Amino acid sequence: MTHQQIVLASRPSGEPTVENFRLVEGPVPAASSLADGQVLVQHHFLSLDPYMRGRMNDGRSYAQPQPLDAVMIGGTAGVVLASRHPAFAEGDAVVGMGGWQTHAVVDVSAPGVLRKVDTSAIPLSAYLGAVGMPGVTAWMGLTQILEPQAGQTLLVSAASGAVGSMVGQLARQRGCRVVGVAGGAAKCAHVTDVMQFDACIDYKAHATPAALLQAVQAAAPLGVDMYFDNVGGAVLDAAMAAMNDHGRIAVCGMIAGYNGEPMPMAHPMLILQRRLKIQGFIVSERMDLWPAALKELGTGVARGTLKYHETVAQGLAAAPEAFLGLLKGRNLGKQLVKLV
Ligand code: NDP
Repeated sequence: MTHQQIVLASRPSGEPTVENFRLVEGPVPAASSLADGQVLVQHHFLSLDPYMRGRMNDGRSYAQPQPLDAVMIGGTAGVVLASRHPAFAEGDAVVGMGGWQTHAVVDVSAPGVLRKVDTSAIPLSAYLGAVGMPGVTAWMGLTQILEPQAGQTLLVSAASGAVGSMVGQLARQRGCRVVGVAGGAAKCAHVTDVMQFDACIDYKAHATPAALLQAVQAAAPLGVDMYFDNVGGAVLDAAMAAMNDHGRIAVCGMIAGYNGEPMPMAHPMLILQRRLKIQGFIVSERMDLWPAALKELGTGVARGTLKYHETVAQGLAAAPEAFLGLLKGRNLGKQLVKLV
């Protein structure tokens, strides 16, 4: 058994490529080398997330850049191989931020770095998606910024993705009419047929601003009260133009601009004219809300009332390609890498 790691080899200018990453191999850390308070984890799943694109840059953002030649940052789910901490035992299923590597030695004396999870009713991988950071992101933007009211209409972009699919389902459970926006007919069919959204708009089939706005207005005949933005750009413009007075917009992500593309806002005057509330948020800033969110998400997934889908790449070496695919929309639902 070898210890594989993927490190950031160089910073991209514009679109990243596989050359920005490097696979390195070495021996698996020995259990006998653990210090007091340390745990050796074997990762079974690695989470790939759009925020990693931002960390590859060297500019100012809400998080520190990923250092060059260091293991790529990332959420992981795995099993404890050896422990020198009383709260963890061999065989425990755990979730942490182990990064793009097959194993990690984790110093668990700092609170929250490693969390034990119960896999009796919820599969381990779901703790990286529906019952993990993306699910909590959906819950937070919806409940804290959009304040959903039964009978109102919610629009959400990247609707077939890890965050978007949860936003829509949680809003529907609160009595809202839910319209998704996704790229391609197959993704839209998934959003309406599996995720049970009321409607879904294929933005790639409505390439002009006028056509996209018309499609949004047709799917939301009473106007849009809430927009959960995962992409920015043209979809944000169409959503704003379809907003009702006193509409709310939760700015969760702007993936259309993650490679540095300019994203001018087409109709900023609408913020005033329609008295819109537009607020950005970062899920890790409100750790106090995670327990309530995870409770609702975990209950829904265990009972089958919240659905989720995963796209799973096999083996650590496949991670860079799968990550580039995620940024281009090749994933359906949560993008994972299976390591064991
Ligand atoms: P997804 O599973 O939704 O995958 C990303 C999706 O974005 C792709 O599948 C693709 O779907 C879509 N996309 C890519 N490029 C474009 C584009 N140019 N225009 C429109 N859509 C595009 O990822 P997540 O659910 O993990 O994340 C969704 C968003 O939430 C991201 O923007 C992410 O950065 C953000 N996020 C924010 C957090 C926060 O704390 N604020 C925390 C977690 C996530 P399609 O094929 O439909 O285009």
